[in-house]
Amino acid sequence: QTIPQNLAETAARCPDRDALVDVPSGRRWTYAQFHRDVRALATGLHRHGVRTGDRVGIWGPNTSEWVLVQYATAELGAVLVNINPAYRPHELAYVLRQSGISTVVAHPPFRTSDYPAMLAQVGGECPELQRVLVMGTPAWDELASAAPDGALLADIGAGLDPEDAINIQYTSGTTGFPKGATLSHRNILNNGYFVGELLGYTETDRVCIPVPFYHCFGMVIGNLACTTHGACAVIPAPAFTPESALRAVQQEACTSLYGVPTMFIAELNREDLDSFDLSSLRTGVMAGSTCPAPTMRAVVERMNMTEVGICYGMTETSPVSTQTRRNDSFERRTSTVGRVGPHLEVKVIDPLTGQTVPRGTAGEFCTRGYSVMKGYWDEPEKTAEAIDTEGWMHTGDLGVMDAGGYVQITGRIKDMVIRGGENIYPREVEEFLLTHPDVVDAQVVGVPDPVYGEEVMAWLRLRDGAEPLTAGTLREFCAGRIARYKIPRYVHVVDEFPMTVTGKVRKVEMREASVRMLD
Ligand code: ATP
Ligand code: MG
Repeated sequence: QTIPQNLAETAARCPDRDALVDVPSGRRWTYAQFHRDVRALATGLHRHGVRTGDRVGIWGPNTSEWVLVQYATAELGAVLVNINPAYRPHELAYVLRQSGISTVVAHPPFRTSDYPAMLAQVGGECPELQRVLVMGTPAWDELASAAPDGALLADIGAGLDPEDAINIQYTSGTTGFPKGATLSHRNILNNGYFVGELLGYTETDRVCIPVPFYHCFGMVIGNLACTTHGACAVIPAPAFTPESALRAVQQEACTSLYGVPTMFIAELNREDLDSFDLSSLRTGVMAGSTCPAPTMRAVVERMNMTEVGICYGMTETSPVSTQTRRNDSFERRTSTVGRVGPHLEVKVIDPLTGQTVPRGTAGEFCTRGYSVMKGYWDEPEKTAEAIDTEGWMHTGDLGVMDAGGYVQITGRIKDMVIRGGENIYPREVEEFLLTHPDVVDAQVVGVPDPVYGEEVMAWLRLRDGAEPLTAGTLREFCAGRIARYKIPRYVHVVDEFPMTVTGKVRKVEMREASVRMLD
């Protein structure tokens, strides 16, 4: 079995299979049509001055144009820079300057985001920015329908190397300012291929992708897993809604559905869930953060996703490092993030000594192999902090590996609370707090304390109609049931937690807000 090296190979193998379906616009492409349109767009971009190595920003929600640009820039060996559609001018300017973007392909104004206007606003601060191309304008349509120049593209292709950078993705910024993970053809193509392989993708799979393309979840686990297996990528909507995802599965008879746990929870919460025909579903991917066991059970039982897989990874590793397998038990799929992927290595170390810890002991999770990024764009010091001289990527995540190689992610090193010299793993306390009948969701953060160094603060979401919950009553509930030092000293009840656009709880923000509250 060989891994297709480019779109041309898949297009030659299954020209008449569906490659891409954009549900909102009703447009669809076979692999032959998709390959032709990618080459047309690549030719058009080249005519507008885009060259190998140039950074090309793409800014907008999930659309078919986004996917075409992804593959057209790869044909040219240009470096696609994924820009988060939620960014505002300040963050936009940072990314444009940090990676030296010369061309931006932008979506027309969408909901509360006027992308072209924001680009015009910051253009003056970004000297390297030369051109902004707006999707859907007459100029864009002309560029995108150029006659493919076969000789030109063959010539460019011959000069490309699998190790060349072709993509910069800024990390989610869950723990601070986003960093520009720089990825090569080899990084992301292989990662997409092996994810699809472990999910058992073939030309008959149809994959519903409501997760953002600007993140590797959509772009690699989604798009590249499809194109390397001849499967079809289905775009349900520009931005996630539970209804559009469910409707797309039904309409396009999707076999696979993706999401972060929050998205699956929103789908499961719909009262009309059972009115959607989801019988075509077989599998899917849940990733990004830990999935609560009841959610996993409901996804299997109510959404027919009997083989749904869990992936763990990070932008810096293209992204997937560990993944559950199709025949892993339900138990494994709810309590672990699976085992290391093909051709990769993982280890768990004591973050202080760097020594590998015994199986079953928590430590920092590290990974090595083809998927580790080239580095952070233009940040050699941060790169050296993350990737050691032996090539190990230090993830900053806390993990435990069991005797069978199954990994559990138990938190982030930065989120660990140290109270009076005792390490407190927030996840453990959060899971205990969820056993309180009124608590729907719990997040635990450390706040500075003059006596203990840090104290535990619990942010809680309560069920509708619950009695008010104070620190006192919560402490009574905890007393005698978890170790005293882990019992939250402070309680803060909220309707919603601060989240990143990729659906992750922003603990940094919660810590900062907690500190302000206590002041
Ligand atoms: P930043 O690095 O900017 O602070 P981030 O780490 O959230 O943001 P991403 O690369 O999008 O940016 O996310 C990777 C992180 O998500 C991992 O390091 C891990 O903490 C978490 N994660 C990913 N998959 C899982 C999973 N299946 N279970 C638990 N946590 C996960
Ligand atoms: Mg990170």
